Amino acid sequence: MDTIVLATNNKGKIREFAELLKPLGVEVKPLSDFPEIGDIVEDGETFRDNALIKARTVCKATGLVAVADDSGLEVDHLGGAPGVYSARFAGDGHDDHANNEKLLKELDGVPDEKRTARYRCIMAAVAPNGEEITTEGSYEGRIGYEYRGEGGFGYDVIFVDPELGRHVAEISAELKHSRSHRGKAIRRMLEIWPGFWEKARK
Ligand code: IMP
Repeated sequence: MDTIVLATNNKGKIREFAELLKPLGVEVKPLSDFPEIGDIVEDGETFRDNALIKARTVCKATGLVAVADDSGLEVDHLGGAPGVYSARFAGDGHDDHANNEKLLKELDGVPDEKRTARYRCIMAAVAPNGEEITTEGSYEGRIGYEYRGEGGFGYDVIFVDPELGRHVAEISAELKHSRSHRGKAIRRMLEIWPGFWEKARK
């Protein structure tokens, strides 16, 4: 069976990707199988830069095809912030709750129609022979006024899916995956995977 490395230690992402690639005869290894790689500095200016930095670093270190994703939240009223800083919006060492508190505070008094936002995800696959592909997905919504729901992670407790009229933390993982930025980016990558894989093995 052919092997690829997914440049993340997020168990949810690894499981999802392994399940989706199984029919194509691809085994997915997590980054934790290669402890020698250590932390990868994500200092790109865009999600695409960061996804490619991660995939190229892991591909070079392992000699295997590497897949990475990078994602975050863009809030229109804040000029697209927190963007690539989504994980550390409230500062290094702060958690999801601190990030959500800071965002609600910055949008204090901002009316509904100006609370538009989107999650974005870029996926990158890089092969040792230099072949590269990227795909993208976005999830349009707006920032709510209060915490709702127990599911998801990150900003999902305050991110509203307007078509469903629900905060993303209130919907099932399956429903989120069918609508989300990450789900779309993964599905687009799977569509072009056979062509990439053929070129990657030349
Ligand atoms: P990463 O791509 O896993 O590094 O995610 C970056 C950050 O973006 C996360 O730490 C979250 O703050 C935010 N984020 C990305 N995707 C989601 C999502 O699906 N729900 C909630 N927050 C997200």
